[in-house]
Amino acid sequence: MTSIPGLPILIGHNDTLLSLYLSERGEGRSFFTRSDIGHIDLPRAREGGMAGGFFAIFVPQDPLIQPMRRDEIIKTDTGYHVPLAASIDQSYAQRVTMSMMENLFSIEQESDGHVKVVRSIDDLTICLHEDIFAAILHFEGAEAIDAGLDALEIFYQAGLRSLGIVWSRPNAFAHGVPFGFPQSPDTGPGLTAAGRELVRASNRLGIMLDLSHLNEQGFWDVANLSDAPLVATHSNAHALCPTTRNLTDKQLDAIKASQGIVGLNFAVTDLRHDGWNDAATPLEIVVHHINYLVEHLGIDCVGLGTDFDGATIPQEIGDVTGLPKLMNALRESGYEDSELRKLSYENWVRVLNKTWK
Ligand SMILES: [Zn+2]
Repeated sequence: MTSIPGLPILIGHNDTLLSLYLSERGEGRSFFTRSDIGHIDLPRAREGGMAGGFFAIFVPQDPLIQPMRRDEIIKTDTGYHVPLAASIDQSYAQRVTMSMMENLFSIEQESDGHVKVVRSIDDLTICLHEDIFAAILHFEGAEAIDAGLDALEIFYQAGLRSLGIVWSRPNAFAHGVPFGFPQSPDTGPGLTAAGRELVRASNRLGIMLDLSHLNEQGFWDVANLSDAPLVATHSNAHALCPTTRNLTDKQLDAIKASQGIVGLNFAVTDLRHDGWNDAATPLEIVVHHINYLVEHLGIDCVGLGTDFDGATIPQEIGDVTGLPKLMNALRESGYEDSELRKLSYENWVRVLNKTWK
């Protein structure tokens, strides 16, 4: 199945840069060469109709200090709990961030004009019209930024246009939400004083703030402070799948009131009512989840987040080439073309247009 003509798709979150950076994840694959590893490379993105999206820079735990903590999932009678990851050192985070940013800019340079790191709505609009793949530079966690925020300005000048204040670990600005099921996202304190300054500075610069991975108090602190639409790039509905990573109906109401957006996460652990990490999760569960978000947020405030290259996703989607299958399933379930355009890219463009300066 090939992409639907005239329906470019922007996605709210991917970890493709991490897959390209860590050889144990991506096995040294190239963004330009079609691979079976992971979910996104340029040939597969073209086939799936992906026009671009947010490219996350996620700094993994420093392997010299803490081995990766994948084995720390604690099974409970009804689900699981993962202890909050340890915080990471700022100079280490900055070094890894620079290296991954350099990788992204190298992709842009080597693409011969086919990939662009977009910094403005004009950039993004041109990319959509001229079929240039659009990458938005995003940090998943602000560890590379000093509490005095000097680095924020530098990274902004370099192209940073979207910032997740935390990943699921504490930093100078906030407390990330630990992974747990079934569990409320209300797991701890909200923003620090430096975190509140970070929100104000991001508003001033026009950097989009991403609320995915914040705990509930952190979410409300940003909601009360920020003058921009509220955005969760890759989170789902807590009512359908009660993980700490998902949004309660009250949080969805606040996002709707701000005319923000929720990007649907394809992570099966955040989609399934039982929270199981099982790729044999039918496509209809994805459609059902989108229906729920549209019911609560309205058709203007829902997009696709995906979490490609960062999570186990339904095998019926498989990778980015499965996006047309989802769009067709949505069409068959009753969405009109004008609504599909909103879900696939127009809502992201609307929110960025209101946020970027
Ligand atoms: Zn994430």
